[in-house]
This record gives sequence, structure tokens and C-alpha cells, in this order.
Amino acid sequence: MDEPITRIVVLGAGSAGLMTALALHRAFPTIKLTVVHCPDEPIIGVGESTTVAFPQFVHQSLGILPAEFFPTVRPSWKLGIRFIWGDPTVPYFDYPFDSAMSNKPPASAKMPAYFCLESGRSESRCASLMDQQLSPCFVAQDGQIVVNDAFGYHVENEPLVNLLWNKINATPIEVVEGRVVDAPRQGNGAIIALRLNDDRHVAGDLFVDASGFRSRLLREELQVPFVSYASSLYCDTAVIGSWRREAPILPYTTAETMSAGWCWQIEFPDHVTRGYVFSSAFITREAAEQEFRARNPAFESDVRFVPFDSGRSSEFWTQNVVAIGNAAGFTEPLEATALHLVIEQIRLLCRVVSEGNLRTLPGLRAAANHRFRLLWDEVRDFLSIHFRFNRHLDTPFWQHCQRSVDLGGAAGLVELFQEAGPSTLCTTSLPSGHVFGYDGFMSLLVGQRVPTRFRNDLSAHDRERWDQYRQALREQTRHALPMRVAIDQLCGPGRRPG
Ligand SMILES: Cc1cc2nc3c(=O)[nH]c(=O)nc-3n(C[C@H](O)[C@H](O)[C@H](O)COP(=O)(O)OP(=O)(O)OC[C@H]3O[C@@H](n4cnc5c(N)ncnc54)[C@H](O)[C@@H]3O)c2cc1C
Repeated sequence: MDEPITRIVVLGAGSAGLMTALALHRAFPTIKLTVVHCPDEPIIGVGESTTVAFPQFVHQSLGILPAEFFPTVRPSWKLGIRFIWGDPTVPYFDYPFDSAMSNKPPASAKMPAYFCLESGRSESRCASLMDQQLSPCFVAQDGQIVVNDAFGYHVENEPLVNLLWNKINATPIEVVEGRVVDAPRQGNGAIIALRLNDDRHVAGDLFVDASGFRSRLLREELQVPFVSYASSLYCDTAVIGSWRREAPILPYTTAETMSAGWCWQIEFPDHVTRGYVFSSAFITREAAEQEFRARNPAFESDVRFVPFDSGRSSEFWTQNVVAIGNAAGFTEPLEATALHLVIEQIRLLCRVVSEGNLRTLPGLRAAANHRFRLLWDEVRDFLSIHFRFNRHLDTPFWQHCQRSVDLGGAAGLVELFQEAGPSTLCTTSLPSGHVFGYDGFMSLLVGQRVPTRFRNDLSAHDRERWDQYRQALREQTRHALPMRVAIDQLCGPGRRPG
């Protein structure tokens, strides 16, 4: 594209489309932005657990400050994931968001990963807060609440999308309602405009496809191939429900092994949501619902089923179309990476436009596509380790996973771990998307107790340092607020209606 971009059209008003439009508006205030969406095509309406990238993006990149975000969205903090998973003799393991495996205790020769290898438990500030069901919030001397640790949020899709709409409505971004029926193209294949069902045309120089699973422009219009992850990820349906909260609010997402998949549990101030992600090749919808309800007798709501395909587009940027969100790819939310990847792709989009001086240089576009593939494939690789090494239940589904899951780009790392344990040199075998890093992969390999031939050799001196380090961690969390207290302070007390 030789001419500078002056008009960008975003198709879709789910969280992906609205976050993209707001980010583009802040980054490129001179570009005319239009959001096109079809109220008859509902947004997906799930997407509740996030990584640490989400609070940073919302507060810093979108400029939505906590004082506005908390009372309107009513999130809760997430310090990591508790996995009821892995070794059947261990009830659970934690994957905290901070550097639980690599933050070396002072004057110790060994990293935490070696100590955690013995116990199978992560030790860090976040892990300690998770253990005690505390928030990452502390009251400072001036009475202000300070949030001190690595954290994500649990956010409900609907209030998040409502807040994003409020922000969009306060900008000059144009909003057009209508169903896109096709997209006239130039001779070179680039899209000229979106044609709506009433024959209106919405013209642009660049089009963001945030149309959800339909991938209306990238896959339907431009026929970009879909790369399936079915050799690693066997689940293809989720059944979802919720109930009013009675129990304390947990500062983490729970992922629990089920007979033909797994269940998430997400914590909101006033209610709890659960979803059973299963493989339809191993269980019927009826049997999955039965197992789901039996495990969660508190259900008040009807359940709903969401089918999905795991995989990504072969590229997310083709011609003058960039796909973001479910239009670009999807993996089950075991590590809650969907909004994380939305943010990564928005950043890639902004970098290409900004560093090309408002032009999309083919080399930058190719580099962005390369990074897109690395990011998504690393998520696939990371998830595959969860499935290959979970021995928590001995059912046909899990037996099949242990025998057959393709570890993809994580195979070399797993092999090295099985020989040499949590060596720092495992960093040389990490997949190169840099999504989870050494800490993430080690938390998983150590936490699941993936068998290793490595024999740990920890000196008495190191063990002493380790015990002191753990005590210090516990001491640091002494003044953390309980979740309910912190949420009532920042979101306001009481239940949300409805
Ligand atoms: C079971 C499940 C659990 C999930 N859990 C998590 C989680 O824990 N954490 C997380 O980060 N993510 C999670 N996700 C993913 C998350 O829901 C999405 O990534 C996120 O909400 C973004 O969705 P979206 O904006 O891409 O698509 P959608 O919300 O589906 O929005 C699509 C938009 O496109 C518009 N549209 C479509 N076709 C047309 C057309 N022809 N004309 C005009 N407009 C059109 C629609 O009107 C709509 O506005 C989960 C997803 C599923 C399925």
C-alpha cells in the first residue's frame, strides 16, 4: 500500500473489535475510524479470565483508570491458576503469575525450580497469596490501597463491553449498524468497502476483521486457510453455567480435570461461573451436562453450549485485512490467553502502522504474520503439555491424551526436562513466542510432576536459604487484604442487580 492510511474500518463490536478501535484511536488520532457491527449477530459473551497483559493494556494503553474500571466492571483479581490436575497423588498445583521458578533466593546456588521439583509446589509471593486466599492489595501508610503483585482480572464480558462502548461513544469514532454481506475488491484483491444488507457501503484503506468465529473477511471473503490444532487439542465444545456466590472469593481461576476434558471456575464478587470444556468424540452433550451439574449442584442458571474449532489462520494480515480476536484463531481458555492474544495482535497492528509511517510495508506485514504464528503456536504447545501429562483421571479421554497429544514445538523442551530437570539451559529450548517463558513452562512441568530422570542434589546450605526465603515470602503477605474487603473498597459493596 503506497498511500498513507487515512480510514480504518473495524468489523465487529465484541471485546476484540472495541479494544482495537479504542487503541487505534489513541495511537492514531488523525485516522478516521469506523466500527461496523450487526446487533442481530450477538457477541460471544464469554471471556472472563485474563493474564497480566490485560490490566496493563486497559489501564495504560487504553487509559481507563482503575477508579473508573472497578465500579463499572466489578472485576476480581487473579494471581494465577490452581490446577486440579497432573499427578493423581497430589490434590492440586498452582501456576502463579510471578516468577515462581526463577527468582533465586539470596545467597543460594539454586533457583526455586529445583526446590519446587522436590515438593511439586510453586513458591512465590503470588503463590503465598493464593494459598491464603488473599488479594494482592495492601493498605499503604497514607491509607491508599496499593496493588503490588503480578495480577490479571476476572472480568465479565458484558460489563466490559458496556464500558468499552461508553469510551467509544465519547470519541469521534463512527459507529455503523448493519450486516456485512460482501466486500467489493480492487483488481489486486484488496477490499475497497464493506457492503451492508441495505446496500450501504463503508469504505476504508485498512479493514480489521473482528467478526468472531465467522471470520467474515479473512476466512470467508479472502479465503485465508485455517491451521487446525486438532492433533494437540481434542476439546471442541464448552457448556457454561453460573451460581450466586456464598463461599469466599478465590484470588485465582480454578482448572479442574473432568472425565472428557476440564472445567474452569471463575470468581466474581457476586457470583461464580463455570464451564466444562470437553471433547465431543468422548462424551455426548447430555452426558457432559449431567457430569457438569453433578459436580456443581449450586447451579442456578440454564446452561449453554458453545462449539469451537481450535486453531489459527495461516496469517492474520492479508492484503488490507487484519484479523483480531476469534476471527484470527481460537484455543480453549485453559490458560485464558484469548484476550492476551487480542492485545498482542493490537500491538502488532499499531507497530506496523506506526513504524511504516501510516503505510503497511510488505516486509513489516510479513514480520507481523511471523510473530502472530509464533505467539499462537506457543499457546498450542503450552496447552499440549497440560493434556499429555495429566494423570488425574484414568478415563478413555485422558488415556488417549497421554498416548497421542502432539507436543509440537514443546517436544524438545520436554525431552530436556526429562533428562536434566529444570536446568536454566531449558531456556534454549523454549518456543519462541515468549508468551509463558521459563517460569510458565517450569510451573507446568514441575507442577504436573512430569517424570524426569534428573536426581536433585540440594545442599544443606541451600535448603536453609530456601526455608528462610519461604518464610520471608509469607511475611511479605502478612498485610494483604482479604479479597472481599479489597473488592468492597475498590468496587463498592453489595451485589450487582441481575
Ligand atoms: C467457551 C469460551 C470461553 C472463553 N473464555 C475466555 C477466557 O477465560 N479468557 C479470555 O481471554 N477469553 C476467553 N474466551 C474468548 C473470548 O470470548 C473472545 O476472545 C473475546 O470475547 C473476543 O471475541 P470477539 O470480539 O473476537 O468476537 P465476538 O464477541 O463474537 O464479536 C463478533 C462481532 O462481530 C460482529 N459481526 C459478525 N458477523 C458480522 C457481519 N456479517 N456483519 C456485521 N457484524 C458482524 C458481531 O455483531 C459482533 O459484534 C472464551 C471463548 C469461549 C468460546
